[in-house]
Amino acid sequence: MKIVKAKELKKKPDFNNLVFGHTFTDHMLIMDFENGAWGEPQIVPYQDFVCPPAMLCLHYGQAIFEGCKAYRNAKGEVSLFRTRDNLVRMNKSAERMCMAQFDVDVVFDALKALIDLDREWIPNLPGTSLYLRPTMIASESVVGLRVSSKYRFFVIMSPVGLYHKPVGGLVKIYAEEGLVRAAIGGTGEAKCAGNYGGAFYANAKVKGLGFDDVLWLDAKEHKYIEEVGSMNIMFVIDGTVVTPKLNGSILRGITRDSVLKVLAKHGYQTEERQISIDEVMEAARSGRLTEIFGCGTAAVISPVGTIGYKNEKIVVNNDKVGQISQFILDRVTGIQTLKYADEFNWVTKF
Ligand SMILES: *Cc1c(COP(=O)(O)O)cnc(C)c1O
Repeated sequence: MKIVKAKELKKKPDFNNLVFGHTFTDHMLIMDFENGAWGEPQIVPYQDFVCPPAMLCLHYGQAIFEGCKAYRNAKGEVSLFRTRDNLVRMNKSAERMCMAQFDVDVVFDALKALIDLDREWIPNLPGTSLYLRPTMIASESVVGLRVSSKYRFFVIMSPVGLYHKPVGGLVKIYAEEGLVRAAIGGTGEAKCAGNYGGAFYANAKVKGLGFDDVLWLDAKEHKYIEEVGSMNIMFVIDGTVVTPKLNGSILRGITRDSVLKVLAKHGYQTEERQISIDEVMEAARSGRLTEIFGCGTAAVISPVGTIGYKNEKIVVNNDKVGQISQFILDRVTGIQTLKYADEFNWVTKF
């Protein structure tokens, strides 16, 4: 692996007031695919790319990404949470988008070297972390509707605080009836760029209604709950934690999987099944729905206080963080920051 260090280090932002995704560390990782093979990973100073206007990803969206985090606790220990799983999922996204497969071990080692070099950028206040953004783009210069023969893989890193910073209460989500995020057979399971650009319109619509995020429904019947923009969703109904079953259009969240495993281990009832918006609204009306929370790497555990659908708006648990949401937030972040034992073998320390 080649390493070119930055001549001058940047001034770090105030870790008490981090805005998500606005500042980047001193270095980045780059690896290029050409003539059927990946070159060596390189760590270089954070810098702009020069790219041809005909670069394929700009025209046809052959682009994928991941989101993972490095944590630093009060003792100064640095940890990664299930990051290999992110890289394995990225290869699955690459397969769906006809992009080149990479060697997970080579990239994981290079990523660790990058984090180690910029470790002073990992904030250690509660709720903060270093967000890693592995990305792969089709980099061939050709305007032709076909798969690229060249790719650039890169990782940039940004110190972050909370993703959802709702003002005046917990997160508010609105179930969108007409617009859809992903259909079965489509690209919903891949973290590909187009899924997110395509969601902006619905997002703007629900923001206009006074909500923070879209609760997506299935593309066929517009009836079954899928997930939220960047997080999977869980409902506590009659004390059981219910989340939509993976169906091919829902993103396979690593946090979702972690939450289900931790809850089961601690004696909570969990269910992965089809769940309709009508069932959720009815349970909310009758008081059987006691908590809602989203889960994802960026969002961590985001308790939801308001759910809207059609002309109805229901406040859940008096807009307060519920007992199970609090438990799972403490447990998952506690494993990530080495407060609790790594009983599932999810953490890489360094
Ligand atoms: C990334 C993402 C999630 C969360 O996945 P994690 O692996 O937990 O970070 C959920 N939904 C969508 C649409 C996502 O892009």
